[in-house]
Amino acid sequence: MPIYEFRCNTCRKKFEELVTSRDAKVRCPKCKKQDVTRLMSAFSVKSSGSSRAGASSGKSCAGCRSKKCGSCGS
Ligand SMILES: [Zn+2]
Repeated sequence: MPIYEFRCNTCRKKFEELVTSRDAKVRCPKCKKQDVTRLMSAFSVKSSGSSRAGASSGKSCAGCRSKKCGSCGS
């Protein structure tokens, strides 16, 4: 069964929830709100407001920030 990671939009708690159907209501275990965001395992969400530092796409070079860089060692 699929386990997804969620983040509460109210208290920012991250938690994992077993989701049996697409329409399942997921509540934050801490504050019980349903205002939660499902986090993608392959982090490809491009939200316009978020900072770039938080959305590490894994393969980006730490030295020059280029995804195609092969010379900086990452
Ligand atoms: Zn919460």
